[in-house]
Amino acid sequence: MVTRIVATRNIASNPARHFEIDPQILFDHMRSARESNTRSGKISLRLMGHYHSHPNGLAVPSEADLRAAHDPAAIWVIAAVTGKDVALRAFVPDGAAFREIPIL
Ligand SMILES: [Zn+2]
Repeated sequence: MVTRIVATRNIASNPARHFEIDPQILFDHMRSARESNTRSGKISLRLMGHYHSHPNGLAVPSEADLRAAHDPAAIWVIAAVTGKDVALRAFVPDGAAFREIPIL
């Protein structure tokens, strides 16, 4: 269950074509989750994945997405934007490709 969504600025050198999460923000949230889990004595918070948009209207992972998919447990949600329409699809890394998973 998703309990927290954190929006971050895209720090990629060419944000119109790529995305990059500020590693300090990612680190801070992972540390906060670990500290919360330590206090509670159970793993209740963990990074489940991330989302980004594809302004080209295709909710399909790009080659750049595949090269950046290092965490096999991370869920990649892609929002394809076409005008005012947004289509969401979710994927997980599966070997050398992505496998789509349902969004419930
Ligand atoms: Zn992408």
